[in-house]
Amino acid sequence: MTDQNTMRAVVFDGSLHVVDDYPVPELRPGWARIHIKTAGICKTDMELMKGYMGFQGVLGHEFIGVVEACDRKEWLGKKVVGEINAACGDCEWCQKGLGRHCPNRTTLGIVNHDGCMADYCILPVSNLIEIPADVSDDRAVLTEPLSAACEIIEQLPMTGVERAVVLGDGRLGILCAWALSTVLSDITIVGHHPEKLQIARWRHIHPVADSSDVEPGADIIVDATGSGSGMTEAMRLCRPRGTIVLKTTVAYQGDINLAPVVINEISILGSRCGQFKDGIKMLQDYPDMPVERLITDRYPIADAVYAFERATRSDAMKVLLQINP
Ligand SMILES: [Zn+2]
Ligand SMILES: [Zn+2]
Repeated sequence: MTDQNTMRAVVFDGSLHVVDDYPVPELRPGWARIHIKTAGICKTDMELMKGYMGFQGVLGHEFIGVVEACDRKEWLGKKVVGEINAACGDCEWCQKGLGRHCPNRTTLGIVNHDGCMADYCILPVSNLIEIPADVSDDRAVLTEPLSAACEIIEQLPMTGVERAVVLGDGRLGILCAWALSTVLSDITIVGHHPEKLQIARWRHIHPVADSSDVEPGADIIVDATGSGSGMTEAMRLCRPRGTIVLKTTVAYQGDINLAPVVINEISILGSRCGQFKDGIKMLQDYPDMPVERLITDRYPIADAVYAFERATRSDAMKVLLQINP
């Protein structure tokens, strides 16, 4: 048990600050309280600070930590990552075992649930995944974004697929290229940052700085550009009856001519989060997948405000807060 009732936390309440007197979250039946080792700063955190979801409270949804309190004793002391959506456990839907439809469900550090950039956070035990002994902390902390990349393979049958192009050399683009290269042997990643393309090199991945150098006719195009031009490029590069996977949630609000989608009978697949078990399994199965390369910065929790500033710069990939390393 914790010996105090307060803890350090990164709080957003219209502005961002670090406090040391935030209440330690109270344990609930069927939940675990986790002592946080490391938390990752994510693009979603930046969106929340611009007003997305109207969130106020402790930020953070990417972490590794150790279970410190739990009514299921077998979890005590285990090193874990955690899925972020939590059903309430009390309502009619939850009582019927339909927690996925719980109208009161919360999301760690995003919707009505204090996040993990603090000494402690709580999650239902059913959300936890033990980190296998052969997966290091620096790899495990990237489980969430890697799982989002794995989701493509989960959604899309890869039989008959030969060539994939990933547009975008940010964290997610690189992780998508790595995940795809576990099942395909011809992957091109397109981006404007030479140092990021360097990071992306692994297995059968060809980095290219300009999409006009990519031969059109690929089976799969993943748009991870985060910009509106990504879709236009994706349509140009996709073969007839190929698939465009959208990993970008912000881009498509302006005018866009979708005629090529019809003419070439292109399938468009939206793809968001993945299951953590898939991400962890990929980390185990591919110990040489260089996910650690994505970690560019580490800061103590006291420097969180500076760390967030750093995370907005284009050369920062994954910025970590080391809370109880
Ligand atoms: Zn995230
Ligand atoms: Zn419920």
